[in-house]
Amino acid sequence: MDIEVYKFGGSSIQSADRVKKVAEIVKGIESRNTVLIVSAMGKTTNLLEEVVNAHFDQPGRVQAALERVIDYHLRIVEELLPGDDQVIGRLNDLFVELEWGLDDQRPEQYDYVYDQVVAMGELISSTIVTAFLKAQGVPLIWLDARDLIHTDRNFRNARIDWEKTGESISRLVTPELERQNLVLTQGFIGSTPDNENTTLGREGSDFSAAIFAYCLKVQKVTVWKDVPGVMTADPSRFEAVQKLDVLSFREAIEMTYYGAKVLHPKTIKPLQNRQIPLIVRSFLEPEAPGTSIEDQVDVVYPPIIIVEEDQLLIQLSTPDYAFMEAQHLVDAFNIVAKHGFKMNVIRNTAITLTLVTQDRPRHLPGLLEELEKHYTVRITKDVLLITIRHTHSATEDQLIQGKLILLEERFGNTVQFVTQSLPDYALR
Ligand code: ADP
Ligand code: ASP
Ligand code: MG
Repeated sequence: MDIEVYKFGGSSIQSADRVKKVAEIVKGIESRNTVLIVSAMGKTTNLLEEVVNAHFDQPGRVQAALERVIDYHLRIVEELLPGDDQVIGRLNDLFVELEWGLDDQRPEQYDYVYDQVVAMGELISSTIVTAFLKAQGVPLIWLDARDLIHTDRNFRNARIDWEKTGESISRLVTPELERQNLVLTQGFIGSTPDNENTTLGREGSDFSAAIFAYCLKVQKVTVWKDVPGVMTADPSRFEAVQKLDVLSFREAIEMTYYGAKVLHPKTIKPLQNRQIPLIVRSFLEPEAPGTSIEDQVDVVYPPIIIVEEDQLLIQLSTPDYAFMEAQHLVDAFNIVAKHGFKMNVIRNTAITLTLVTQDRPRHLPGLLEELEKHYTVRITKDVLLITIRHTHSATEDQLIQGKLILLEERFGNTVQFVTQSLPDYALR
């Protein structure tokens, strides 16, 4: 069976009009052997994060934050499926489940509650999109990804139990495809052995698409986004970016590792392992070919720029002028890993270790407390990490001219700069 996976990201279903566009794309699918994966609508995940933050920091604001989520979806349903009481009934059940997530306190606290609440965004969106597609006559089965994607209890960044997940996907998805139904399910979410909700990390729906692709050994994965494909830089930040027609898995995994937001970094590995091509296409121009990410490509890449915000520059020094030796590095890395911080740049000198990591404000005090037991710690917040792959001196000049560079790191044809403000130029 030639199976395909289509993933529709948040922006492709952010409004009733966009859902209608997606329906046109789905109706154009020739093969019924397609799994559809949807994200939460628009910025719902951010709104749900606000609900969780209000719950912990300003309980008086929870209700208003919840209402924003509910109203947003009800308005879309009103436009797509006026008078459909069935879908409203199903949504009301999900809204109740959402509120339960807040009542359910456990020792894990924040991360646990976050997943119980935030996972609901995808359940809500998939319920609406399914109802609309069915109303349009599309033969479709809705499956709950929590019955398919099995994970550990590492809330907010859950790790996949591949064996169990593969077994559930074969048992529940394959028979539906054999019956000529399209299957629609949620990205980003899974569940623990105790049926608690988990999430796979922000922007994790691309990864979900890759998990289904791997387990079903599909022919091709297409992710539908608001950009023509993978570009040489984020088009929302830089002008005159170019689309890359083809990209190797290797280049894609490097780009996403350095923080290119167009794909979740975990997406590439399962696809590369099974040699499944990944197509990034625009739902705004569904006829255009997009970017094809494959194993072997014969291209000379132009400079590719990646900007990561909200970084911390952490400088650790041994307090007694002892050399920063292997054991110090191991200890420091262990502490950083224990608190869940990802190291983006690492550099050491005789007595210092400099790290650039993504900020995790709720976890930072714990990290600093432990580091300070062993090292003198200096920290600079709110820095940017700019990475240029296939770098070129002209691009570097344009990017960093007049900027205070706090750290520069070169390796092969990749250069990284840590700076405090964004380059204020348009790329030409
Ligand atoms: P989805 O709708 O699937 O969630 P995302 O919003 O996660 O899609 O990803 C698309 C966004 O990624 C674009 O709107 C763009 O601003 C951003 N982006 C960052 N870097 C790139 C890049 N190199 N090429 C294309 N888009 C990029
Ligand atoms: N809705 C989730 C997020 O916004 C997952 C995704 O869209 O990929 O992070
Ligand atoms: Mg996304």
